[in-house]
Amino acid sequence: MKLPIRQVLIFSFAFEVFAAVGFIGFLSYKHSQTAIHDVAEKWRGEISNRIESYVADYLNTAQLMNQISKKSLVQNKALNDLSQIKSLLYQQMRSFESVPYTAWGSNAGDYIGILRTPDQRYHLEMVSPATQGQYRTYELKPDGSLGKLVKTFPRYDPRLRPWYRTAIAAKGATWSPVYVWFDGSKIAIDAVLPVQDTQGQTLGVIDTPIPLSNISQFLRQLQISPGGQSFILDHTGKIVASSHFDPLFQTPNASLNILDAQHSTVEVIQKTATYLINEFGGLSKVKSPLSFSFQNQDHRQFVRVVPFNDHRGLNWLICVVIPEADFMEPIWANSRLTLLIAILALFIAIMVGIITAQWITDPIIEINQASKAIAEGKLDQQVNLGYKNEIGDLANSFNQMATKLKQVFRELEFKTLHDHLTGLPNRVQLMKRLREALTRSQTYPYPIFALFFLDLDDFKVVNDSLGHLVGDELLKQVSHRLGTCVRPSDCVARFGGDEFVILVENINNIADVIKIAQRILTQLNHPFTLEHHQIFSSTSIGITISTMGYSQPEEVLRDADIAMYSAKQSDKGRYQIMTTAMQVTAIQRFKLEHELRDALKNEEFCLFYQPIICLATGQLAGFEALIRWQHPVHGLISPGEFIPLAEEIGLIKALDLWALQAACEQMHQWQLQFPRSSPHSFMMSVNFSPIELMQRNIVEIVTNIIRRYHFKQWYLKLEITENSLIDTLVQIKVLQELKNLNIKLSLDDFGTGYSSLSRLHRFPIDTLKIDRSFVNRIHSEAEGESIVNAIITLAHNLKMDVIAEGIETVLERDTLKALGCEFGQGYLFAKPLAAAAATQLIQDSLATIPYSCSLRDNSSSSNR
Ligand code: C2E
Ligand code: MG
Ligand code: MG
Repeated sequence: MKLPIRQVLIFSFAFEVFAAVGFIGFLSYKHSQTAIHDVAEKWRGEISNRIESYVADYLNTAQLMNQISKKSLVQNKALNDLSQIKSLLYQQMRSFESVPYTAWGSNAGDYIGILRTPDQRYHLEMVSPATQGQYRTYELKPDGSLGKLVKTFPRYDPRLRPWYRTAIAAKGATWSPVYVWFDGSKIAIDAVLPVQDTQGQTLGVIDTPIPLSNISQFLRQLQISPGGQSFILDHTGKIVASSHFDPLFQTPNASLNILDAQHSTVEVIQKTATYLINEFGGLSKVKSPLSFSFQNQDHRQFVRVVPFNDHRGLNWLICVVIPEADFMEPIWANSRLTLLIAILALFIAIMVGIITAQWITDPIIEINQASKAIAEGKLDQQVNLGYKNEIGDLANSFNQMATKLKQVFRELEFKTLHDHLTGLPNRVQLMKRLREALTRSQTYPYPIFALFFLDLDDFKVVNDSLGHLVGDELLKQVSHRLGTCVRPSDCVARFGGDEFVILVENINNIADVIKIAQRILTQLNHPFTLEHHQIFSSTSIGITISTMGYSQPEEVLRDADIAMYSAKQSDKGRYQIMTTAMQVTAIQRFKLEHELRDALKNEEFCLFYQPIICLATGQLAGFEALIRWQHPVHGLISPGEFIPLAEEIGLIKALDLWALQAACEQMHQWQLQFPRSSPHSFMMSVNFSPIELMQRNIVEIVTNIIRRYHFKQWYLKLEITENSLIDTLVQIKVLQELKNLNIKLSLDDFGTGYSSLSRLHRFPIDTLKIDRSFVNRIHSEAEGESIVNAIITLAHNLKMDVIAEGIETVLERDTLKALGCEFGQGYLFAKPLAAAAATQLIQDSLATIPYSCSLRDNSSSSNR
């Protein structure tokens, strides 16, 4: 996980708080929901109780009034006196102000009714023998006397009315069916009470209608809940009262019909009734209070149904409906509050988290940044946090570590950039300085810089003769003197061993360079005093300057080194400034060197064979194997062009051993090819660099090569050039060991070197090869012949035979033959031949073998 530590802290902190607040919120939501459900249940119960008690009170008024009226009528024996009944009922009406009407219907068909008009006046409605069966309505004066006639209906018989019949059938106080008020303004129910005489004979019925709109009014006034409703149904499903404003009756076919709940336009009423009917199979079967709920327009409606039964035959259902939203509103409000608190808490938690995280992470970040800076090499890092706790300790430890690191790094840096002996900048630092100088010089070619490459001329001698300690002291003194020759801003570096390099910048012209070089030479020419020894040392200096057009520091160094070698070769103790010509030569040499190394790997070399002729008989005596380089581009390259370089770069040993191996292989093949023996053995001369003679294991290597072959008709001869043969015991020992391997030795190019004639006999040499230059001069110079004659005589006296090189003319051959030279080699006989041509030559030679040739072959030489 790659989250920054600060975010991890803030997130986890916020998460914890959020989880805690969320959990508490959830619990409180659950609790409040349960609590609110309980309250709601109680609430519905209370509401329905209130409705029940109101309805009971309201309806009782009418029944009570009937009871009182009956009692008065019976007590006053007024049951047959319509006038008294009228007075009594009038009094009752004045006493019960909530009742709008009361009436008496007798079994004789008489009828007395007192009506309270909306303007609180009274009307008398009566049917009696006096009205001749007509139904007349009179105004009543306040004293109860008749006023004017208001209206008349032709007929009315109370005994036929439903209220009358209901009362007779019930034989006691009861209720009429609910009906629509005669003027169509409301619905009502009548409290009826039959009146019997002492014999139980029914005399009539007291009827007190009571409008149910008052109950609706009451229901409307009840504050149930914002969406709460209440209504009352009778056992047939008619809506008796409703808190809703819709009319409770309709007038289909000109007759007034009370609305059936199942057909109510008020959905809640309709659904409640349907539910009850579906659940109980009829409203009359609901006998005890119940609660249920149903879905209505995405809202759940909670319903409380309480049966209302009075002992006078009423069988109603009081229904209270409260939408869930009304219960839930407090919960939602509560939830909103909880959410708000949670958000607030989260916000505070995040703020606290941020501040805390910042407090914790700021120092960590600072230490981290400082550590990164150290990792990038900016070691000057300290953190000052001002904390006194663990973070403060961490900061202190970090500071100590940074200080220590800086110290160690500086020491290490010094060591990696300085020479431990002289304290001078070392090769690494020099290359760095040189690279910088080069970059600057590429932008601004002037002023120029110069690089001085110094090599002490005889340091090895000092080291070998006086010991390393003295050698070290010499190097220290040299480095000290060099420091005095240049400005402090210049870079004097020890490059390795006895080599020093000085980089001098801001030089105006070449004269400055020469002055510095001379100053250095003068300084180092003074004798050094080392442990009581006075030592004179000289130095070779190679110089190159930036105007030579360099792009890499290695090129600058390479050229200064080349110039130094040039200085050393021409004469020690001098300086040489690099020139373009030297550069070209060096580059060519460099290229050749590379190619030569590759050539050895790619086996691009081959051997040519130059015949060696027995001068006495003119017969083939053998060959000299001469190496050639088959260059892929330049073709055959002669050894003169690459042997010196091979010697210089140490490739000569590999080349010589390759030539030796190839020559042996060729000899072996020829021996197999021409088994018929000739009267003498053929020689195979192989050139061998004298450098090899200094190698301790050379005899072993040569032994390994030749032991694979067994030569009978051929023998091997190694040619060593005279000019490099020095009289060392090592060389003599090696030559002797080679001879012990049955190898002949020949001194090549004799006369060109400086070998002391007096020491010649010390070397176990078999043959002297007179150099071509002497042969060429036999006839062109006065003493030419005498010198050659002297060489031949010397060789013969030292029991060596002689091969003359470079015979180009018949005259030369004849003179040499006359002087007793045994063998000749030269273009007169043949140029160096490829193997095939040489093979042909052997074949031809064997075909015409004369037997008079006195070759000094293996056997003959051993007889010397
Ligand atoms: P070298 O050993 O003295 O070989 C004789 C050289 O003289 C050969 O040159 C040959 O071609 C040349 N030569 C022979 N007859 C005549 C003549 O009549 N007139 C003239 N003008 N030249 C003649 P090459 O082959 O170019 O070899 C040059 C030198 O390279 C050899 O001189 C030898 O010192 C060296 N060399 C050749 N092969 C090898 C080798 O395998 N190892 C070593 N270390 N040196 C070798
Ligand atoms: Mg040779
Ligand atoms: Mg030679």
